[in-house]
Amino acid sequence: MYDASTQKEFIQRGKVFLQHPEKVSSDQLPILRKLLRFHEWKYYVKDNPVISDFEYDMLFKILERIEAAHPDLITPDSPTQRVGSDLSSDFPTVSHLSPMLSLENSYNADDLKDFEKQVRKLTGEENPITYVVEPKFDGSSVALIYENNYLVRGATRGNGLQGDDITPNIKTMPTVPLSADFSARGIHKVELRGEALIRKDYFEAINEQRAKEELPLFANPRNAAAGGLRMKDPKEAAQRKLDTFIYQLTYAEDAEGRDATQKFSTHSEMLQYLSEIGFLIPNDLIKVCKNISEVIDFCQEAERNREQYPYEIDGMVVKVNRLDLQQKCGLTAHHPRWAIAYKFKAKQETSILEDVVFQVGKVGAITPVAKIKPIELAGVTVSSVSLHNEEFIRSKDIRIGDHLVVERAGDVIPYIVKSLPELRDNSVRPIVFPELCPSCQTPLVKEEDMAAWRCPNYHCPEQVIQRMIHFVSKNAMNIDGMGESQIRKFHDLGWLNNFDDIYRLPFDEIQKLDGFGQRSVENLKKAIEMSKNNPIHRLLYGLSIHHLGRKASKLIAGQIKHLLDLKDWEMERLTAINEIGPILAGNIIAFFKIPENVSLLQSLEALGVNLNQKEEDRPKALPTDGPLSGKTILFTGKLVQMNRKEAQDLAEKAGAKNISAVSKNLNILVAGEKAGSKLKKAKALGTVDILSEQEFLDLVNGMANG
Ligand SMILES: [Zn+2]
Repeated sequence: MYDASTQKEFIQRGKVFLQHPEKVSSDQLPILRKLLRFHEWKYYVKDNPVISDFEYDMLFKILERIEAAHPDLITPDSPTQRVGSDLSSDFPTVSHLSPMLSLENSYNADDLKDFEKQVRKLTGEENPITYVVEPKFDGSSVALIYENNYLVRGATRGNGLQGDDITPNIKTMPTVPLSADFSARGIHKVELRGEALIRKDYFEAINEQRAKEELPLFANPRNAAAGGLRMKDPKEAAQRKLDTFIYQLTYAEDAEGRDATQKFSTHSEMLQYLSEIGFLIPNDLIKVCKNISEVIDFCQEAERNREQYPYEIDGMVVKVNRLDLQQKCGLTAHHPRWAIAYKFKAKQETSILEDVVFQVGKVGAITPVAKIKPIELAGVTVSSVSLHNEEFIRSKDIRIGDHLVVERAGDVIPYIVKSLPELRDNSVRPIVFPELCPSCQTPLVKEEDMAAWRCPNYHCPEQVIQRMIHFVSKNAMNIDGMGESQIRKFHDLGWLNNFDDIYRLPFDEIQKLDGFGQRSVENLKKAIEMSKNNPIHRLLYGLSIHHLGRKASKLIAGQIKHLLDLKDWEMERLTAINEIGPILAGNIIAFFKIPENVSLLQSLEALGVNLNQKEEDRPKALPTDGPLSGKTILFTGKLVQMNRKEAQDLAEKAGAKNISAVSKNLNILVAGEKAGSKLKKAKALGTVDILSEQEFLDLVNGMANG
C-alpha cells in the first residue's frame, strides 16, 4: 500500500518534524497525519515498526498540540480520534447489511473431500476448483461499515442478523483504519467482516494482572476479546489491545446504490485489495490452493504449526475462490455452501491427580491447587492446576488419584475439564479441605455467599507475605527491587511484619546478605524513598482491604484530605460514591475501626509516607450552587437534541453527578426515546424523578437565566 519511495519520504519527514517540533505548522497537518497513519500501519498491520515508540509518541504529541490550537481542522480519521470518551451504558442494536452466518464444520480429509463433491454438484463445474484457505481465529466477530471512505459503524455479530453498535470501541483498535480509499475502486458503501482478538502473550499478561487483583480470570482469549468489545468505556476497551483481522467483504454498493461486489472476480483478489488499502489480513497464513488435496495438505500443516502463531487459531476456513461459483453454491439459512471450517483437535491431555496443596492469599482466601503428574500441553509442561474452590472440586467430583482431563484453554491457562471416574480404583481418596489455615493453623471461616474459605487471622504469616507483595506491587506503592523472594527473606529474618517495617529496613544488614550488592541496596533504598511521595490512592489500594480495587481507591481518595479522615466515614457516605457497594463499604469501615490499623497508618506517616491528598490529584469539584447540585442523574434511551456525553456534561455543569445504574441513590432519570428497562426500574422504585429530554434542558437552562 506504500511504495518504497513514499515510505522513505514519510520516515525522513518524521525526522525533520522531530528535530524542530515547534516549527510544524497547521499547514502540515495532512502530511503529519498521513505519516502517523503510515507508522501505525507499519507497527500494527505489518508488525515491522521503523521508528521507536518514543518517536511515534512525540509525533503524535505534535499532532495533538496543533489540533488543540485548531480544533476546526480535526478530521474524523485523524489518528487522535481513535480513543473516544463517549461513555454510553447500553449499546444500540443495529441490523447487518447482510446476515452473518456461521460455518459448517469438518474434522478430517474425508470431510473436506465430501465438501468438494458437494461444491461440484452445486456448481456443475468440471475444471479444478481453486480454494482460499485462511486461519480460523478464535476471537469475536465484528462487522464494519465504511461509507464515503470513512468508518461509520462497527457492530458485534449478535444473533447474525442484528448486533450491538460498538463503534466507539472499534475506533480504539489501531488495526482498524478510520478511513480507507474505497472510492478509487468505485465503492461508496461497504460492509466487511472481521475477527477481533488478542495476542496470546498479551492475553497471558492480562490474566496475570487480573490474578494479582483477585479478579476472575478469562478462560481463553476469546472471552477476553468478546468482553473487550463490549466495555462501556472505550478507554478500557483500548487496554485490551484487540486486533481485527478482516476475512470477508460481504456487501458493497456504488454511489448509485448498485451492487459493487461484481468489481472482484475472486475472494483472494478481494483480500489482496483490502490488504493494499490498509486492512489487517493474515497474508502469511492464507493460501490459494489449486485443488482439494492442496487444501488438505495446507490445513494439516497449519494444524502442526498452530502453536507458533501469536494468535489463537482453532482451525482453518476453506472458501471457494471464484465469486461466480460462490453464487452458484448459495446459502442455507445457517451457513454458506461455498465455505467450510476445518477444526483443529482440542488441546487436551489426561493426567493423574497426585496431591492437592492449599495456598493462602493476601486477604486469607484459601485456593486449592492440584499437583498433577507432569504433562505436555501445547508445548508447555504442566504440573500445577488451580482447583479454584471447594465448590469446583465438588461439582466435578475430583479425587486424589483420579485420572483427569486437562485442557490448556487458549494455550495459556491449564484448566481441569473433568475427572474420569470410570478409571478409578481402590486407591482414590477424597480431597479433604483443611479446617485449619495451612500457614498459621487458625480455624478457617466461610462468609455467606463467598466461594472461598478464609483464614481470619490478620497476622497469618502467609497473608502478611502476600499483603507485602501486593503493597510493593506496581499499581500500589510501586517499590522496584522488592519482589517475592526479597520479601520472604526479610520476613524470615524478622524484619518485615507490617508495611511500616519497609520504611525501617536495616540496609546495613541487608548489604551483608547473599545476593545483595551495594548497587542493588542503593536502588532499593531509593525506590523505598520515592514511594513515600505517592498519591494516597496508591497507599489505600496497597492496604489489601478486601474487594477494594484501584478505581474505588482513586474515587475515595478524591473525596478526602487525609487518609485517616476515613476513620469517621460511615456507610451512607461511602455508598454514595459510585462503584462502592455496601460490602466494600463495610470492609473499609471495619479496617479503619481497628486501632492497630490506625496506628499503622500513623506510624507510616511518622516515617515520612504521604497521607495527604495532594491538590493536583483531586478531581474537579461539582458546582454547589447549580440547579441540580447534590442530585444524581442518569440518562437512558435515545436523546434527540444532544448526544449522551453532551447531556452528561450539561448535567455536571448544573451540579449533578452522573451515575451509571438505577438504584435508590438515583435522584433523576432523563428518559429519551425508546427508554427500556432502566425507565421501568426507576418507575418501580418510585423515588426517582423522571424527566423528558426537554424538561431536563428547561431545568438546566433555568440556571443560565437566574
Ligand atoms: Zn493463616
